[in-house]
Amino acid sequence: MLDTLKRVFGFQAFRPNQEEIIRNILAGRDVFAVMPTGGGKSLCYQLPARIMQGTVVVISPLIALMKDQVDAALENGISTAFINSSLKPREMSEVYQRLRNHALELLYIAPERFAMPDFIETLKTIPISLFAIDEAHCISEWGHDFRPDYLRLSSITGVFPNVPVAAFTATATPGVQEDIINKLGLRSPYTVRASFNRQNLFYRVTGKTAIETQILEFLGDHTDESGIIYCTTRDSVVKMADFLTANGIKALPYHAGLTPEQRKRNQEAFSRDELTVIVATIAFGMGIDKSNVRFVIHADLPKNIESYYQETGRAGRDGEPAWCILFFSRGDIPKIRYFIDQIPEDKERTIATEKLNQMARYASHNVCRRRHLLGYFGEEYGDENCGACDICTGTVEKVDITIDAQILMSAMSRTSQRFGIRHIIDVVTGANTKRIRELKHNTIKTYGAGSHKDKNHWRFLVDELLAQDVIHQDGDKYPVLKLTKKGQSVLYGKEELTALKREETKTGRRTAQDNEFKPFDKDLFKRLRVLRKTLAEEQQVPPYIIFSDRSLHEMCRYYPATLPDMKRISGVGDAKLERYGDDFIEEIMAYLNENPGIPVPDREYPALSVNPSRKKGKGETIEKTYELFREGLSLQGIAETRNLSISTITGHLEQLIRDGRDIDIDRIVDPEKRNAVEKLFLTLQVWNLGPVVEHFNGTVSFEEAKIIRASLQRKQANL
Ligand code: ADP
Ligand code: ZN
Repeated sequence: MLDTLKRVFGFQAFRPNQEEIIRNILAGRDVFAVMPTGGGKSLCYQLPARIMQGTVVVISPLIALMKDQVDAALENGISTAFINSSLKPREMSEVYQRLRNHALELLYIAPERFAMPDFIETLKTIPISLFAIDEAHCISEWGHDFRPDYLRLSSITGVFPNVPVAAFTATATPGVQEDIINKLGLRSPYTVRASFNRQNLFYRVTGKTAIETQILEFLGDHTDESGIIYCTTRDSVVKMADFLTANGIKALPYHAGLTPEQRKRNQEAFSRDELTVIVATIAFGMGIDKSNVRFVIHADLPKNIESYYQETGRAGRDGEPAWCILFFSRGDIPKIRYFIDQIPEDKERTIATEKLNQMARYASHNVCRRRHLLGYFGEEYGDENCGACDICTGTVEKVDITIDAQILMSAMSRTSQRFGIRHIIDVVTGANTKRIRELKHNTIKTYGAGSHKDKNHWRFLVDELLAQDVIHQDGDKYPVLKLTKKGQSVLYGKEELTALKREETKTGRRTAQDNEFKPFDKDLFKRLRVLRKTLAEEQQVPPYIIFSDRSLHEMCRYYPATLPDMKRISGVGDAKLERYGDDFIEEIMAYLNENPGIPVPDREYPALSVNPSRKKGKGETIEKTYELFREGLSLQGIAETRNLSISTITGHLEQLIRDGRDIDIDRIVDPEKRNAVEKLFLTLQVWNLGPVVEHFNGTVSFEEAKIIRASLQRKQANL
């Protein structure tokens, strides 16, 4: 199994659960697996397809996705085909022919095939090693995406009693899970419920102030990455897409108002990296399999956490870091509530309202986003600090907000708790509105008591007080602010209030606990991306099918120069190595030639193993340097004593630091300087010394930068 994993798929290790699932499939047992998007479900049946005798039949609901899935398998050298209504009769009979000749390892079909007796009769005549059912939740009426066609799959176990069935889905509550197992008639299946945690996703909620500028700013930091921006309405989709286009960003809209052809075209352009951004309503997403979506931005509040999780789930399927940014304004809540109010059925409306409240709580609470999301799905997240959300990576400062809270609540109280957010803020800030004059609210004692701070400040305070359950909103259509018990007690000075004030860190990853946010050479990435696109156009497949972002990122870290080096890159199996290896090596070599001085790391670098004897021949001389350093000599001193150059000694120290030896770096570089340099490395996300030294204009030497780099890499490897 491991051998096939390496040779065919080019991966070094299994993702969680893959190995056990495959083992059970190979043993002929039914399988039921809930794994999150990007968890690597397809490998669980593609790898057996290579190993087992006979054909693996995959049932997949989306015809639009089938071609990409087949292309991806073909790129790995697996003989694959699909059958669905889009095939011409001649193509169809060709596939049947290959099927009968036992020439297919993998066959994708749509569920409606099972309504065709002819098809079933054909299947009966060929050796089938496995039925793999993708998106298995579609069989359950209790799931969120029921498809009547899927009910036909109930017959599989009866008609093919000797063939194991493996069902996969990314979303199933325990209830839906049971329903799927029953409907499919799985026979005591090996069952996996994987964690919903998506480690490589960074979650951030940002207050929505000037959404267009905010998004533009984000995109400025993420050039050459593609992503999705979700807006609630068609109008806002169009407006945003126009705005971005006017600002030089390649963006296209996607919404239900476009013709199916336009939608298809825009989606394909996105898939093929011809766009940077697709701006979409939630109509967009079901048919998207693009693995290199680097960010998903919600410009408006999603209507519930399920949707939010599913939409953000489209980011980072390749396992590489990706961003999920939610721009939140409390003003979005009534807009969604308006739609919810149109739901005729009481119970449904109540559920929808509660889900909306949950979503709002997610956006406004000061707890780890990851813990909050997972908690919603009934999963407890154990780590104190997830290292990849705004809450966990922000620097936190506690501020006392008692007085401001009292001002605001006093305004509420003096107006009999009968007004909504906007009016209360008007009172506090001393606005001169008609309504205030009519109600004579300019005569109450609190009028203008908070005019020294702007409206945004009060707006955020309202959010904070709502989140802390000090005040609450009452009433559906025109919600008014009311004090809770806790609010009373704060207002009368019996209790104090603090809020957490966060400074967001831009790179966000400073405290990341996994190794996934390692820097890579962005200039090289740009070039490899272009090459990938050219090859993709030649092959008429989406670029991520040629190589995933993860593979390219690795190439941009390790600069593979030979085929064996290239083979060690994740995602480079035998077939891809043969097809594309040389092209990419050539491009990398050209790049290195044009940019001499880029340090090309050893393969293990930078996630170094703690192995002091790595460079054996050099060991002794390095030890000597270590001794002298421990005796208190400076770099200069060591160089003189040993009659070696400073750069050699620096090299020794670099190695010692990487090996995790006890080197007091403060003796070599001033801590403040070191801080600044580390920051720059993390911001640039590249390990090249050149730009860093240049940036500091001669105040940081090459040697110093080198030492700092080593210690930083060491730190990251330790995480
Ligand atoms: P899912 O269907 O569960 O959403 P996919 O099967 O599309 O996920 O896999 C997501 C990505 O992860 C793909 O790019 C795939 O090549 C990659 N992948 C799968 N298994 C592994 C593995 N063992 N090591 C590295 N990458 C993997
Ligand atoms: Zn967190």
